[in-house]
Amino acid sequence: MDRFINNYDGKEFDLIVIGGGITGASIAYEAASRGLDVALVEKSDFGSATSAATSKMIHGGLRYLSTFEYALVRESLKERRVLMNIAPNFVHPAPFVFSSYKKDKVSFNLMKIGMYLYEAFSFDKNWIWDKSKSMPSFKSLNAEQILNLFPDALSENLVGGQLYYDCSSHSPERFTLSFIKSAVKYGASVANYTEVNDFIVENISKKKKIVKGVKVTDKISGIKKDIKGKLVINCTGPWADIMLDKVKNKGNHNEDLRRSEGIHFIIDKNIGDTTYSGYSKSGRHFFLHPYRNHTLVGTTDKEFIGKPKDFKVTKEAIEGLIKEVNSAYGNKEKIKYNDILYCYGGLRPLVEDQTEESYKSSRKYEITGEKKNGIEGLITVEGGKYTTSRMLAEKAINKVIRILKYPKKKSISETTQLFGCEIKNYKKFIEEKTQEYNKYEPHQIEYLIRCYGTEIDSIMKLAENNSNLNQKLNADGELLAEVQFAIKNEMAITLSDIIFRRMGIGLLGHPGNEIINKITTLAAKELSWDKEKTKQEISIVEKKFEIPK
Ligand SMILES: Cc1cc2nc3c(=O)[nH]c(=O)nc-3n(C[C@H](O)[C@H](O)[C@H](O)COP(=O)(O)OP(=O)(O)OC[C@H]3O[C@@H](n4cnc5c(N)ncnc54)[C@H](O)[C@@H]3O)c2cc1C
Repeated sequence: MDRFINNYDGKEFDLIVIGGGITGASIAYEAASRGLDVALVEKSDFGSATSAATSKMIHGGLRYLSTFEYALVRESLKERRVLMNIAPNFVHPAPFVFSSYKKDKVSFNLMKIGMYLYEAFSFDKNWIWDKSKSMPSFKSLNAEQILNLFPDALSENLVGGQLYYDCSSHSPERFTLSFIKSAVKYGASVANYTEVNDFIVENISKKKKIVKGVKVTDKISGIKKDIKGKLVINCTGPWADIMLDKVKNKGNHNEDLRRSEGIHFIIDKNIGDTTYSGYSKSGRHFFLHPYRNHTLVGTTDKEFIGKPKDFKVTKEAIEGLIKEVNSAYGNKEKIKYNDILYCYGGLRPLVEDQTEESYKSSRKYEITGEKKNGIEGLITVEGGKYTTSRMLAEKAINKVIRILKYPKKKSISETTQLFGCEIKNYKKFIEEKTQEYNKYEPHQIEYLIRCYGTEIDSIMKLAENNSNLNQKLNADGELLAEVQFAIKNEMAITLSDIIFRRMGIGLLGHPGNEIINKITTLAAKELSWDKEKTKQEISIVEKKFEIPK
């Protein structure tokens, strides 16, 4: 993949996408695969903001049943199935347990009724291409069965729980990248580290202006450029209102988008294959999600007041989450602050403002043209879930095609596997590759397939041809070859891009200085960093590993 901005010649695109999170990436792919000439610009790295802050689930959202958001749940469950088909290495069925205690705000019986509804809404869950990934129906468990699965669950007042299947998303970071790569495959022009500072606007009258493109800064070269487009789509997630204000209010920010913050942390604990979820003593929903032999603990949902750039995970937020979880889980062992290996968080843009509590706010999305405000040539997309992004993209591009008066063209994204995900039978693919690369441990090959899908062959080729690149870096079996692959093929530009997004090596906490040094030495050589630049890159990465004190 090449950064188009390096050689941009001033041509007019059909569509310019601002933001390279999952929304922008899906929209760029949808547009390119329907024949539009599209450019995508991202101010940081692809998928580095909210899209890297998820709970790693591709799910219907059981809890949205309690707010009667049946349409959202149904759409999410349908999309879960679609994503299983088009991205079999990223989306995996996984067992979940929702426990019920006496005096929980939703009783065992009500939860069971909820499960019947959830099942009904996912009636098509096994209409999947790869039957090896079929999901069984839910099952109610009694207290003893719950304790057999989770010996550390509190036994007092435990009534039982529901065992059901949803999907986990192995690597939301690489999943977003796969949408970007798919867009590029169909001709999209993409560039990370390219920030939109303003819009190119033609003022027609006092009440009417037309957006004709965007003014950007290439943050790598420092060069400013104007990119022309017939239509611009604002996919900046929690920054959506700030971006809009550039054209609506001459840069004066009104802070009209509500945002809620959510955090997670990773602990070195293996709770088995099943995700545990339940209500804390204060009635908050929490979960313990198995992730690469560790546990991902989440999440919070609290109104965030301030600018998105100022958001960070705080000690108070972590302590709050620990308190909630410890109030309802952990017989012998409670979570301690020192157990935390890594933490991350993000901001959810919320599109409705009637609900006071952000936790109860909808996760629906909106696609709005700005014509009613006298601004043509601009569409904004706000809200949504990672799970529903493909569908959002399909609807957004229907609107784009209508506005541009282009001939209708059927979407292929529901029926075409993403770039690198072209796998018919996942189990068989694993077996074949495990045999082909039998010098490596099977779990390592499976891990690499989850990350790279069919691109595993490119990684293995690099590794097998160069003993330095063949070095195994962690228990999952990540290889130094991935660093070179990320730089040469995946537009990785910073050390953070490599450690936290192209690879998964940073996502379980600090992998140790020796590993960081190996990765940095190779990256510095490939990207021609001098000593000073190398030091800077390491210091940014080290900061990201810090647990707030
Ligand atoms: C804590 C938490 C947990 C979640 N868990 C789940 C889950 O398990 N499953 C699920 O389905 N959903 C989940 N979600 C929701 C999901 O993460 C979001 O719906 C999704 O990531 C939104 O993607 P996006 O592309 O709209 O936003 P983002 O990923 O934030 O992308 C917006 C991009 O715009 C870029 N940008 C901003 N300003 C500019 C500019 N001036 N120029 C260029 N680029 C710019 C930003 O850098 C950013 O990369 C969760 C959300 C949170 C916060």
